[in-house]
Order: sequence, then C-alpha cells, then structure tokens
Amino acid sequence: MHGCTGVMIVMIQAHFARRCNRMSIAVSPPQYPSAPSLVEYPHPALRRVAEPITVFDDQLRQFCARMFVVMENEKGVGLAAPQVGVSKRLFITDHLRKKDTPERDPRIWINPRIEAAEGTQVYEEGCLSFPGIYAKVTRPNRFDIIAQDEWGVERRQSLDVTAGDFLGIVVQHELDHLDGRVFVDHLTPVQLTLIRRKLSDLEKAYKKSTGQVGAVLRR
Ligand SMILES: [Zn+2]
Repeated sequence: MHGCTGVMIVMIQAHFARRCNRMSIAVSPPQYPSAPSLVEYPHPALRRVAEPITVFDDQLRQFCARMFVVMENEKGVGLAAPQVGVSKRLFITDHLRKKDTPERDPRIWINPRIEAAEGTQVYEEGCLSFPGIYAKVTRPNRFDIIAQDEWGVERRQSLDVTAGDFLGIVVQHELDHLDGRVFVDHLTPVQLTLIRRKLSDLEKAYKKSTGQVGAVLRR
C-alpha cells in the first residue's frame, strides 16, 4: 500500500467529489471536519484520549487525504488526528519527508498499538503543535507496531530505531498524541526549565487568540 498511497488519495478525492455532486443535501452532520487545521499547545484537544475508529468509509479516507495536505503545508513528518482537533485513533506519517529529496513514504495508521518494546534510545524531537520547541526524548528502541490501514486491514511492522528506522521515532511520538500525551511530558524538570519561556509564549498566544487558558502543562 505504501508506494501508491499518494495516487490512491487522488483517486479518493475524485471519487468523493463525484459523490458530493450527486448529494445536494447532507443528511447527517459530518463526522470529520471539511477543512482541518492544526491546533497548537495548550489547545485542550491535545490532552484528550482519542476514540477508536470503527467505520472505514469514504469520509474517513477523505479526512486522511486532508490530513496529508495539512502535514505537507506544515512540513511535518507526522500528524495525529487530535492535532487537528479530531479525537480519533488515527495518525499519518511521511518519515522520508525529512530528507531533502522528492522521495516520499506516506502512511496511514489507524487504531495502532505497540508490542514487544525493548531497549531505549534518545532522539531530539519537535512537534507541529509546539512550534520552535525541540528536546531530547528517551523512548523504546525496538518494538512492533500493529495498526489498521484506511481500509481496515491490520498489519504488523517491526522497527529498530538505532538500526536506522527513523519511522520508529515518528510513530511513537504520534501514538502518544492518541493518548493525550505530548513529547514534553517525557522531559526531565531540568529540560522543562530550558523550554519554559517558549511554553509561556505559546500559552500567552493561545489566550490572546481564544480568551481561554487551555490545557496548560504544570511545571
Ligand atoms: Zn506531535
């Protein structure tokens, strides 16, 4: 599925456009936003535990396509549904986007879980929802990830970060988002001190634009 996901998204978009032309009246409220946009810390959506996905339909696949547009615009290597305010167990990745080449590997991960985790590794992470903040995070090194694709087909993949699987960093980071966790939750008090000012700036910006305090990290 991986090599042709991009083509498939285009096909899904065309298919969905044809469907929309036939349906002049929406019979039920849309389950997914038609124009998803990134939310930033301290938006409370980043703290909710996301719900499993049980329906694998065109709406879901169209939403995945829209998430890829958001991730591409934001120049990310991963994006979880809660990062666009949707509390569903879904994230997308394109870990090859990091390299300065046209090579891509877009993937969709639905209802993912990790098994057989062992060892540890440290990697400097960032997050689209925490612009300008980077910090070293310790996570398991080798593990299996089991997830469904956009058609509901379940697959298992073994990843080993120190053997070169950067994707292993991305999927662990994104899976955290589905459980209401963010990468700064992994930091030591000393590391938090170093990014305190930047967190405060994001909190002030959120309050200014929404009038709300949001889900502020205690530190
Ligand atoms: Zn993130």
